[in-house]
Amino acid sequence: MEFNDQPGCFSTLGKLLHRRRSSRTDWKSVGGGNTVVYHEPAGVRNVVEGVVKHNHISCGAGAEWILDPEGPPSYTSPDYLVSDAKYPLLDADIVKTIETTLDRLDTPLRDLSLKIHSYPELAFEEKYAHKIMTDFMEEHGFKVTRHYAGLRTAWHAEFTVGKGGRVLGVNSEMDALPGIGHACGHNLIAICGLGIAIAVKTALVAHSVAGKVIILGTPAEEGGGGKIVLLKKDAYREMDVCLMAHPAAGALNSSSNGITGAAQSMFIEFTGRTAHAAAAPWEGKNALDAAVVAYSAISALRQQIKPDHRIHGVVEGSNWTANTIPDNARLTYIVRAPNKAELTELAERVVGCFQGAAASSGCKVKVELAPAYLDLRQNSALAREFSINAISRYNMTINEIGSAASTDFVSMSLHFSQVHPFNIILLFTQGNVSYEIPSLHPLYAIPTSPNGGNHTAAFTRSAHTREAHAATMNVTRGLALTGFRVLFDTSFFKEVKGAFELDKTVRGAT
Ligand SMILES: [Zn+2]
Ligand SMILES: [Zn+2]
Repeated sequence: MEFNDQPGCFSTLGKLLHRRRSSRTDWKSVGGGNTVVYHEPAGVRNVVEGVVKHNHISCGAGAEWILDPEGPPSYTSPDYLVSDAKYPLLDADIVKTIETTLDRLDTPLRDLSLKIHSYPELAFEEKYAHKIMTDFMEEHGFKVTRHYAGLRTAWHAEFTVGKGGRVLGVNSEMDALPGIGHACGHNLIAICGLGIAIAVKTALVAHSVAGKVIILGTPAEEGGGGKIVLLKKDAYREMDVCLMAHPAAGALNSSSNGITGAAQSMFIEFTGRTAHAAAAPWEGKNALDAAVVAYSAISALRQQIKPDHRIHGVVEGSNWTANTIPDNARLTYIVRAPNKAELTELAERVVGCFQGAAASSGCKVKVELAPAYLDLRQNSALAREFSINAISRYNMTINEIGSAASTDFVSMSLHFSQVHPFNIILLFTQGNVSYEIPSLHPLYAIPTSPNGGNHTAAFTRSAHTREAHAATMNVTRGLALTGFRVLFDTSFFKEVKGAFELDKTVRGAT
């Protein structure tokens, strides 16, 4: 079976599962027995394989920013953002420092982006990107730690001005997809992070503001959950906030501050006993029966779950023949919900189906849970600051629904506008970071071809264009201004913290 059709950072979960099943030793059990085994990501080795299907991820409402468009699509900013336009911006001289720094970096960052694009590397194999990005940060005065946190292709760079300042965190992704290269545009994410970090550092120095910038090179967004590994290794502990951005299809010069979904992968194994299916079936314990009962139970459960929940899975086994009672069956399931609290509850109900199937068949069952991908909690204060800058300075439009991207669920979303099913589909490990510290992860539009959204060969071409680079630089400017304000403006940081605490109550705090 192939795990090649799962969306993740548009496709991560399938790869993560594939990796686990290809190399079980990379995963550490923290429980055991005949019930549920929770896994923590312990491995750093890339075993991503297979062919990625070209999922259609586009704006879906006919509003994509199309390469060579006949004309820009119409778009209206949400009222609340327009009315917030009087919100005070940073001093003009600070803005000028950040913008001129990024103007100077434009060509070097473009070169770096194209180098990464022309040499795509898979998850945990981003050695070339690791080298050129760490060299770049060192050239710009950052203290660099290569092979950070025990991960061969993770890196850490920091720059401190004065004492007692706050800490801005930034993520740069680097990995590509098998066969189709940088079809998720992580070459653009890479330079966005570098640009934010260097621009903020330059402004701290120029304006004598105490603070620290930490940028992480985060491997394996497309398979392996690099940021989840880094989270568990305390890589984000020092940060007060964390910023990054992701390209997608969408309306001209648009960006989304919307949330995304949460997902939990499960691997289930039923173990029974073989017997001759005709001569002595009473001696057997039928693991295939257990799998079928579980599959049916989940199908029944599906009728009583919320419309924005999803449960989907497959069954497989070894050495099955019709005249032998099967003694093994394996299932792989993915459970999705809008947030961590609902995901946890739904996952428990699904696990109950497996346990019930084991009881009815007399088989043993082992349920392994992969690290959950959590929903993206966009900090409202950071989102407002970014949005106002993006709108007022860079002529962007901002939407707050799930994303600038969507999937073939789009037609459903038109009918169930409250649900936004595509929010469930998108997964970003920045979601896990956003549960720990205030975060912002805009999804911004780059020009794409029809049916050429993320994870298509066409998107790989889009990620190479000058227009995509220009869009990335605008988002970089907006995030750099936002990040600097976190370090510079104590009252704004209080607001960011307040929004983070408020969100804890909204999401059902853990
Ligand atoms: Zn991606
Ligand atoms: Zn992706």
